[in-house]
Amino acid sequence: MAELFHSMMQFIVSLFAAGSIQSATPIPAESPLPLQQSIPGGLTMIPVGDGIQPPAVSFNGRPVMVIRPDEQQSWLAMVGIPLSQKPGEASIKAGNNNIRFGVHDHPYPEQHLTVKKKHVNPSAAELARIRKEQAQMAAVYTSFSPPRPWQPMAWPIRGDMSSAFGLKRFFNGEQRNPHSGLDIAAPTGTPILAPADGKVVLTGNFFFNGNSVFIDHGQGLVTMVCHMSAINVQEGEEIRAGTLLGKVGATGRATGPHLHWTVSLNNARINPLLLMSPLRSGKLLSGTRQTGAAHE
Ligand SMILES: [Zn+2]
Repeated sequence: MAELFHSMMQFIVSLFAAGSIQSATPIPAESPLPLQQSIPGGLTMIPVGDGIQPPAVSFNGRPVMVIRPDEQQSWLAMVGIPLSQKPGEASIKAGNNNIRFGVHDHPYPEQHLTVKKKHVNPSAAELARIRKEQAQMAAVYTSFSPPRPWQPMAWPIRGDMSSAFGLKRFFNGEQRNPHSGLDIAAPTGTPILAPADGKVVLTGNFFFNGNSVFIDHGQGLVTMVCHMSAINVQEGEEIRAGTLLGKVGATGRATGPHLHWTVSLNNARINPLLLMSPLRSGKLLSGTRQTGAAHE
């Protein structure tokens, strides 16, 4: 088991350029808590008191998840840091207190992709559709539902990671939004499993993301899987980790079959690897390779 954890850690370290995990706090292999990385696109855990009830916590004006993994310990604010966060000092509000923390710069690599023109310069009708879909997705990402027991996440599929989280994206030479999830290459039809318990809050066929499923895991933690060839769940459905969500495909803005997986916390898209359990991940991803199957 220690060996499994070790290879997982090596894998995670290899994903961050030059092994520059800054301010990451090592956690024991048994801990279900996420890894911390106080960078844009990362996550930091901040103790916010040990009363019977947790204080209300907010970051950038958004409510923040608070968990108490152990009765003996403090409440922990789980703060998702958006990719757009400026490095430097930041703060959360916990009750009446401001608690400061540092956000470190992180050099995410560049990725250059060639995609169909339609997906780079959409028509007026397509823009209207895109705006409508963005509003639907924003409503999900900014929602804040009741707490659920904290659990680490499991890989939704097994395969090679084809695009890491946070890449600075260029489509046909034009700089676009950074890669806000991670891509795992897998053949069309590969089953996609829920990474954790939650509720299906949105499904549909989206212009960029293709067939997609959004799962609310409580307190502003939302995951999205997209580009699916088939969707096997319905909006409103309560699901458990491991529930079949659908199948891998290449719908929407995708250059080949793969799973794009987004994790959002307090409306910040963060690196899904930080929430992965080294103990629940099963067969580890065997490494990274460029397959050309990538997207959004
Ligand atoms: Zn992607």
